[in-house]
Amino acid sequence: MTSLDTICVQGGYTPGNGEPRQIPIVQSTTFKYDTSEDMGKLFDLEAEGYFYTRLQNPTNDMVAAKICQLEGGTAAMLTSSGQAANFFALFNICECGSHIVASSSIYGGTFNLISVTMAKMGIDVTFVSPDCTREELDAAFQDNTRAVFGETIANPALTVLDIEMFAEAAHAHGVPLIIDNTFPTPVNCRPIEWGADIVTHSTTKYMDGHGAAVGGAIVDSGNFDWMAHADKYPGLCTPDDSYHGVTYAERFGKEGAFITKATAQLMRDFGCIQSPQHAFILNLGLESLHVRMAQHCKNGQAVAEFLSNHPKVAYVNYCGLPGDKYYERAQKYLPNGSCGVVSFGLAGGREAASTFMQNLKMGAIETHVADARTCCLNPATSTHRQMTDEQLKEAGVPAELIRMSCGIEGTEDLIADIAQALDAI
Ligand SMILES: *Cc1c(COP(=O)(O)O)cnc(C)c1O
Repeated sequence: MTSLDTICVQGGYTPGNGEPRQIPIVQSTTFKYDTSEDMGKLFDLEAEGYFYTRLQNPTNDMVAAKICQLEGGTAAMLTSSGQAANFFALFNICECGSHIVASSSIYGGTFNLISVTMAKMGIDVTFVSPDCTREELDAAFQDNTRAVFGETIANPALTVLDIEMFAEAAHAHGVPLIIDNTFPTPVNCRPIEWGADIVTHSTTKYMDGHGAAVGGAIVDSGNFDWMAHADKYPGLCTPDDSYHGVTYAERFGKEGAFITKATAQLMRDFGCIQSPQHAFILNLGLESLHVRMAQHCKNGQAVAEFLSNHPKVAYVNYCGLPGDKYYERAQKYLPNGSCGVVSFGLAGGREAASTFMQNLKMGAIETHVADARTCCLNPATSTHRQMTDEQLKEAGVPAELIRMSCGIEGTEDLIADIAQALDAI
């Protein structure tokens, strides 16, 4: 299986003779064993298998295996949400006293997670512009830096990250690069090929793609050599007293240590498991991901072009538009398209934005993106309302900005709806 199209449809599960064609939903909290010794081996991580769904479930593992193949990683896990995925990815290698370097242009929830909640845990952050120079990026590192974080295409600012440059800087300072690849999905970008070490997803978005199930995923590239930086990562490189003294990096190697620790330790303690029902729904979405992404991108491009030629529109952000600030970078990292999300500002400001959104018939006002149905949002009054005007600008989401997530409806219908809503202003 080498084509992403084939992996979307068939990856992660190959039924044997007489077995279900579709992945089975293993709707069971627990698993039965003949002897206590059998189960003990699982608890000691000496044998592979299942004992309690809070840690692992076969349905989840099949879907995680598909996402792992799509991203070109060595191990992966599902989480209950994208928030849980990003928290686990960071907290798996950070502890009180650690420091993170993060792009300032990231999802509002992740910005809060890192800057407020993780700060309460004693984990500091330095935010850098996604457009910083290598020198500016290098200057953000400290002795206690343990991870670099960014989004391939930021939600909702739509900045495109120079993944290769961020990876080189991270590695020069002996730490991994974590990339949230939610918006492009592996269909349009595979960050591991550009040097990212860990990839995260809110599967709630394009992967599910139907607004049906909240979820997340973490994929490990298997490339980061934890033992070479053992002083920085005691959690991976010294015995875990809470797990019978296992040293993850020794026992599971570069390929498996990160996900095994996040499962055995963080999932055990925080319990952010995805339900097997949700994993099944997610897998239905994944089966058509490659087909849907093409239509999302076609509609995104058409809408961006229409808006950029409209007199009532002040500016449009879409990296597929020649002349967009991120056009060149997108040609490098996203040659086949970016995503269906377009953002723009109306010449009439906040008020015009409100009138426009109210008059859309197909495009619904929602705190959601990356859905088969078109939806839109004014981040300043919803997802990002906890930010000051200053922070909003810095994050690339000025108060008048509208984020439009183009669905997979007919292109002409979508343009017609937008046109009539603009006329209403
Ligand atoms: C939505 C989103 C998240 C959070 O995911 P949830 O599934 O809503 O918890 C994280 N990162 C990005 C880029 C997102 O778009």
